[in-house]
Amino acid sequence: EAHLEARDVVIEYPKPGSKEMTTAVERCDLTLDRGDFVCLVGPSGCGKTTFLNAVAGFVKIAEGALELDGRPIPGPGPDRAMVFQQANLLPWRTVQANVSYGLELSRKAKKPAARQRADELLDLVGLAGVGQQYPAQLSGGMQARVNLARALAVDPEILLLDEPFAAIDAQTREVLQVELLRVCAAREVTALFVTHDIAEAAFLADRVCVFSPRPGRIVKEITVPWDRPRS
Ligand code: ADP
Ligand code: ADP
Repeated sequence: EAHLEARDVVIEYPKPGSKEMTTAVERCDLTLDRGDFVCLVGPSGCGKTTFLNAVAGFVKIAEGALELDGRPIPGPGPDRAMVFQQANLLPWRTVQANVSYGLELSRKAKKPAARQRADELLDLVGLAGVGQQYPAQLSGGMQARVNLARALAVDPEILLLDEPFAAIDAQTREVLQVELLRVCAAREVTALFVTHDIAEAAFLADRVCVFSPRPGRIVKEITVPWDRPRS
């Protein structure tokens, strides 16, 4: 049984000011096994973000089936974490407190345990010793790492990444891409990664899904023929 499976998924939004609906995602099929790294590419507005939001449980599908381990996606849950382009770190909290925040809110860990876990994750993303600094003291690349550590804090099975490195300079982005693959392999997470950048997709992914212009459907699925760096 697949870890994440979309069959004939249709997603619609109401047209502003009317009762009609417009189709954002048109009959998408996609299957991910545990540990897969799949990239979604396609023109702006083709429904990539919408599809991630459906997997996250923020958006309901109109038709088809969207299943996690054989069960319909029940709504948002800590088994799926989103990573956005904007890190949106809380400026008055330390880096460590930013990473531990979700865990503290979920009450799954008491504050000292959550803070310790944050330190471990900061270690994992290459930010050992940075925990007591504040977000404004960090470079864009470091903030992207904090963003990733924060998503990992709730121990998700699936990471949903929406152009997380789009605002980062090309050189730093390459370093972050390698780091992301290492982190995903270390934590055995499954990744769905949206990007505009074909080179980024080809570097990161086991498979690249190409969406048509809107309404988006997956028109091509490409298996990347080389081994990615995994550790
Ligand atoms: P992409 O991520 O590929 O750029 P999106 O998923 O953001 O595409 O958008 C797909 C389509 O759905 C677009 O036509 C967009 O205008 C529309 N759309 C996205 N979010 C909403 C919303 N909340 N309400 C209405 N239409 C939306
Ligand atoms: P904690 O839960 O660790 O106490 P909080 O995030 O609740 O941390 O608050 C930390 C500090 O930041 C508090 O002194 C609080 O008054 C302040 N604070 C909370 N929200 C904001 C905000 N939106 N802008 C600036 N300071 C804030």
